[in-house]
Formats: sequence, C-alpha cells, structure tokens
Amino acid sequence: MTARNLFLLPGDGIGPEAMGEVRKIIAYMNEAMNAGFVTDEGLVGGCAYDAHGAAISEADMRKALAADAVLFGAVGGPKWDSVPYEVRPEAGLLRLRKDLQLFANLRPAICYPALAAASSLKPELVEGLDILIIRELTGGVYFGEPKEIIDLGNGQKRGIDTQVYDTYEIERIAGVAFEMARTRQNRVCSMEKRNVMKSGVLWNQVVTETHKAKYSDVQLEHMLADAGGMQLVRQPKQFDVIVTDNLFGDLLSDCAAMLTGSLGMLPSASLGAADARGRRKAMYEPVHGSAPDIAGQGVANPIACLMSFAMLLRYSFDLGAEAGRLERAIAAVLEQGYRTADIAQPGDAKVSTSGMGDAILEQLDRSLA
Ligand code: NAD
Repeated sequence: MTARNLFLLPGDGIGPEAMGEVRKIIAYMNEAMNAGFVTDEGLVGGCAYDAHGAAISEADMRKALAADAVLFGAVGGPKWDSVPYEVRPEAGLLRLRKDLQLFANLRPAICYPALAAASSLKPELVEGLDILIIRELTGGVYFGEPKEIIDLGNGQKRGIDTQVYDTYEIERIAGVAFEMARTRQNRVCSMEKRNVMKSGVLWNQVVTETHKAKYSDVQLEHMLADAGGMQLVRQPKQFDVIVTDNLFGDLLSDCAAMLTGSLGMLPSASLGAADARGRRKAMYEPVHGSAPDIAGQGVANPIACLMSFAMLLRYSFDLGAEAGRLERAIAAVLEQGYRTADIAQPGDAKVSTSGMGDAILEQLDRSLA
C-alpha cells in the first residue's frame, strides 16, 4: 500500500496538547486498520521563531509542500507579541496558505444533540445542525489592489480596499462547493450582494453557468449575503452547503460557528486546486487559536483538532467511512457526558484533554470490535 504522508505542525500554546490526541488516533489507525500513515513534524509560529528566527523555516515549508496533507495546531501567544511583523507567528499560517495555494476554506458547523443547550439559539433550531460553509480564501477585498490610505491634502484621508474577482476564481470555488454537495445533501446556496456590487453580479452569473455546465444534478439556490446572515440565525438547518466570497465567508462562517456552542469544537479545511490525479494540496486546522489562558494545563478541548483530522481522512484520502466512524465516536462520547471545561455546564464533571482523547479512542476501538 502507498504511504499516506502527513506533515504535522502542532505550533504554540494548546496546539501541541490537542495534536497529541490526534497522534494517538493516527497510531491506532496504523495498528488496527493498517492505514499506512507516515508522519513528520515541524515547527510553526512562535516556536519556529524561537528556533529559526522565522515563523516557518524553508525546510519545513518544503515538507509541507511535499506532504499529502498538513495538519496544523495553533500559533501565537503573548511571548511573541513584540516580534517584528514579518516574522510574527501568524505569518507562518499565511505563508502556508499562500504557498500551498489554498483557495477554498471549508468550515463545517455541526451541532451535536448533546451540546444543543450550549448554543445561543433555541436547542430545537440547532440540534442536529450540519452545514458546510465554503469561503473563497485567496481573492476578493482582502487582496484586491489598490489597497491603501491616501492623503487627500485637505485634512482628509481616504481608505481604499478593492473587491475584485475573476471568472476562474469563482468557477473553481463553485466547483468545490458542488462537488462537496454531492457527498452530502446535494444542495448549494450561493451568497453575494448582486443588488449593489458588480463583483456580486459576476459571482452570481459564473456560479449559475458553472452549475449549468457541469453540476446540474445539484440543487442550486442564490441568496443575498445579508439575507443569508439572517436566515443562518433564523433557521440554520435549511442549508446544506453555502458558498460565498472571502469577506462574506469570513463573517458568515464565524456566525455559523457560534451556533454550535464552543470554539473548541470547530474544525476547518483549506484546499487547493486538484492536480492531474485529482489530488489537492490541503491543510486542516482547528478554528481556535493557541488559547494562552489555558495552555499547559491539560484542559483544552481536543475535539476541533480531532474533527480536523476527520476532515483530512475524508477530503485528502477518500476515507469517508473512517472519518464517519471517528465523528460518531466523538458524538457518542459527548452523549455519554464527557465534557472538557469549555463545554461543561455548571455542575458537570470535567475531563482533561487526554481524558477526552482517550475516551474517543476507546469508543472508536469499540466501534470496530
Ligand atoms: P483563542 O481561540 O486562542 O481563544 C479564545 C478563547 O477560547 C480563550 O478563552 C480560550 O481559552 C478558549 N479556547 C480556544 N480554544 C479552546 C479549546 N480547544 N478548548 C478550550 N477552550 C478553548 O483566541 P485568542 O485568545 O483571541 O488568541 C490567542 C492567540 O491565538 C493569539 O496570539 C492569536 O493571534 C492566536 N490565534 C491563532 C489562530 C490560529 O493559529 N489559527 C487563530 C486565532 C487566534
């Protein structure tokens, strides 16, 4: 069997603690399922700065580019607040996204029934929620030129950002959304602001044409992004896959994230273009940061990192059944009442990071028996 090459970048703060629980699952899958994962590890963020004076070394960048998939923990912390801007911890993350050309950001928002009470919405609105937000990650207003503040010379300044999208950028993100929808409930909702933005008019046209040309089996709906935001908090379960641009995706995915309760539960994937063999460059990471307030205490919730690994199984290695088994093990453990501090209600008994990881591993093992 060909080796499955993983490059692990645990990073700073709680990153290494959460990654430790993923390592246990990888070792288990190699042993019990002959999964053939070969892992290498590198440094990113503050720890890379301490070791190399850069947020990621060139050698580790080469390893990330060569791997079948990268799993990233978290970066940052007060220790590195005053390092030069170009080598700040987040620069490592941005460099990885840029050099791997990861244009599609996938953020699932899943609400486990056992945690429905932790959401800010009524439990019946979010219980069983399973939506996927696909955000364009490398274009739009965050990157468009001109991007500047100019002095108008009359005591006034002007801040300028440019929202710009070309046809190919919209086509490829729409393609990812339609393909993902086919593995789920086969429905895509595209969100833009075609009523006030030319880039929104083009977005709408290109998504419609891409759908007609290659994906007419998928159900497509268009929604204005502001109305989409309202619908997300009014009736989130109406959606399956949402595809949107960089700016709207940033806002809408954070909004959807909070429907599920805790930052410690949210995974993400960032994918690049498919090569001739259909393989995509890919990086998987929890949405949360390095959580310096709890780092080193062994209390972080490892579920976001474990669910990111489940996404890796599904999207980089076509191991959907194994991903599903891991996700069901997580759901079962939550159902049994295991809670790290971030998802505990007053009076609940709390487990440590490794206590949660071990319970999930045991459940996974039971499901195979
Ligand atoms: P954060 O996500 O690190 O933490 C926010 C809050 O959520 C904290 O109270 C933290 O304890 C809690 N939390 C986060 N993840 C948790 C988990 N798995 N289990 C339990 N509780 C969890 O965000 P922040 O505090 O704004 O940022 C801290 C550092 O992380 C900063 O240096 C920031 O720049 C960096 N950051 C990095 C990333 C990344 O690496 N992708 C993302 C966001 C922030």
